[in-house]
Amino acid sequence: MAAELEVYISGTYHKKSEAKISVYDHGLLYGDGVFEGLRAYSGNVFRLTEHIDRLYDSARAICLQIPMEKAAMAEAVNETIARNGLSDAYVRLVVTRGAGSLGIDPERTSDPQVIIIADHIALYPKEMYENGLAIITSATIRNHPAALNPRIKSLNYLNNVMAKLEGKLAGCEEALMLNHKGEVAECTGDNIFIVRRGELLTPPIDAGILDGITRGAVLDLAGQLDIPMRETALTRHDIYIPDECFLTGSAAEVIPVIRVDDRPIGDGKVGPVTKRLAAAFHELVRKS
Ligand code: PMP
Repeated sequence: MAAELEVYISGTYHKKSEAKISVYDHGLLYGDGVFEGLRAYSGNVFRLTEHIDRLYDSARAICLQIPMEKAAMAEAVNETIARNGLSDAYVRLVVTRGAGSLGIDPERTSDPQVIIIADHIALYPKEMYENGLAIITSATIRNHPAALNPRIKSLNYLNNVMAKLEGKLAGCEEALMLNHKGEVAECTGDNIFIVRRGELLTPPIDAGILDGITRGAVLDLAGQLDIPMRETALTRHDIYIPDECFLTGSAAEVIPVIRVDDRPIGDGKVGPVTKRLAAAFHELVRKS
């Protein structure tokens, strides 16, 4: 059996089964913290700088001071992957507010914890990448941007967990979340794209979504491949009539969607633009 994985916690490594933080940590008590999900391909972390920048932006937005420099954080991510002998890996980077008192007050916490877990992830079965996935629209809306802005990748994901649960209860692996205006926002852990008459469309960041790094990479690729694209507000109507639909995320990569709310997308098969972009994305992650 392979040696037990080791988890980085604030400067030291602990066996996975022994990696622990305080039950008084506000990350646990209140979801008070931030996180990132990254992927390494052949030992190289895809868009590491962008993930680290987003982590520090999320932390800044909640007035959480990460107790290390960005360069040291990047080094710790690479070291955790190497130390565990991983080459293709998923990395979960978490920064909690730290242990405090039994009240919300963030000023009564000390010692934010930095946790880095490098492991394997298989979010969706292989069959779904080939044949596409079915999603539903959840009744749970994405966080109102004036509450917890969805650009902050915070540990407070219960809203998304509830939407995911709605999906699972309906027999779907993902669920679409609308924003407070009733427009399409994103899925519980993935951004959404549609293709209509050859044009690639996705909601803008101000629809109240996470500024996904895979989303950005796919938009770049569309530019390079001369696929017309536009960031624009989308409604459920748009999601019911496109030729193609797919989701993007660090864990999910590019995954086709073939049914929304039990309605077939296009001819119900994975479309050519989705296939092209998925292939280009796989090529990109391998060469960067
Ligand atoms: N939206 C949400 C809500 C997410 O949690 C994620 C990350 N899992 C994404 C989109 C995709 O973002 P990225 O491509 O940066 O992983």
